[in-house]
Amino acid sequence: MWPIALVPGFEKNKTKLLNESSTFKIKINKTAMKTTNVKAFGTNAADAPLNEMTIDRRDVTAKDIEIEILYCGVCHSDLHTARNDWGWTVYPSVPGHEIVGRVTKVGSEVTKLKVGDIAGVGCLVDSCQTCESCKQDLEQYCLTGWTGTYGGVDKHLGGSTFGGYSQKIVVDEHFVLKVPANLDLAAVAPLLCAGITSWSPLRHWNVTKGSKVAVVGLGGLGHMAIKLAKGLGAEVTLFSRTPDKEKDALDLGADAVIISTDDNQMQSVGGKFDLIIDTVPYIHDVNPYVATLNISGTLVLVGYLGGLEPFLNTVPMILGRKSIAGSLIGGIAETQEMLDFCGEHNIVSEIEIIKMQDINEAYERMLKSDVKYRFVIDMASLK
Ligand code: NAP
Ligand code: ZN
Repeated sequence: MWPIALVPGFEKNKTKLLNESSTFKIKINKTAMKTTNVKAFGTNAADAPLNEMTIDRRDVTAKDIEIEILYCGVCHSDLHTARNDWGWTVYPSVPGHEIVGRVTKVGSEVTKLKVGDIAGVGCLVDSCQTCESCKQDLEQYCLTGWTGTYGGVDKHLGGSTFGGYSQKIVVDEHFVLKVPANLDLAAVAPLLCAGITSWSPLRHWNVTKGSKVAVVGLGGLGHMAIKLAKGLGAEVTLFSRTPDKEKDALDLGADAVIISTDDNQMQSVGGKFDLIIDTVPYIHDVNPYVATLNISGTLVLVGYLGGLEPFLNTVPMILGRKSIAGSLIGGIAETQEMLDFCGEHNIVSEIEIIKMQDINEAYERMLKSDVKYRFVIDMASLK
């Protein structure tokens, strides 16, 4: 998923990483590995629409679980990847990392789930599992590079990993999640990325009853951030460019909505928030949001990747001990914690179910923020 040069610590430890890392020193014995052809939806170029294609899935090894995919959520990262917004897409690209399905086969050493169980797969399908990050259940920050569900380095078959816009996926059991039985399966799918990406910063920055949390942008991540922060007992405010979303935000549990283009409204919440989760996918001015942080407050960027413009003004940060941070999805244990929390609190995503063949139109609608609040593909449409 990440280009090698973006792996944390890569420049400093380049030689060591390239020599020792199992991610980059892949021993592939393709002929020994049995595979099955499955139908998928993907693209061969940034400017080409997604279309049906065929991909290989490996047969289960001892620790693997094979899952028939029932539902797959549509994340804005899928669109960024399909269209090469980040400049590192490997084609063909089959997106999809919000996967819920039924276990169809398990390897001889699998203990987590059995055939017939419901399983979830999020953004991660592999990591070294031995580095300091992995040992701390932070597989998403694996020091030798984690394997994204799509666009990662496939350690088994070589080439690139293919995501959930497909009939089946085979994943090491460590990276497979248990899904609470009481929740609607289609509406669970977005928890596997939008849910955990919101949950991880809420937990890391110790959001609890009475915390003052703001969320920037009411989309897939934003609506989950509101629900999860409310679930943890926080007072939650939405920052949105879109006045039409105000009622929805309040219905989702937000205590207040601030229209970010209205200076008076922005000033009314100056110095208020302990934590702001910024989900905006494109370059934008973060300075007005810093002004709304309380002393020692933190603004966590989870959406936009890249340089900021206009420049970040450090004056309010220094005078108010404020921080700007980033956060990447969440580890496997934390994802399970989030799913269990959602099971206990009956939290799922607000979804619109689409057919696989509608994906290109869905991307266009996502770009116009015309989705309430996550598309989920009914994978039966790919049969
Ligand atoms: P989404 O459903 O499209 O929602 C994004 C929301 O941001 C929109 O609904 C809109 O809300 C606001 N927005 C969109 N364009 C904007 C612009 N140009 N300026 C200001 N606001 C804008 O997207 P998503 O699936 O939630 O994903 C959000 C971002 O997070 C994407 O970039 C995605 O790649 C990234 N992501 C990161 C991680 C991670 O681990 N850090 C994980 C998953 C996704 P309003 O109309 O309310 O303003
Ligand atoms: Zn995602």
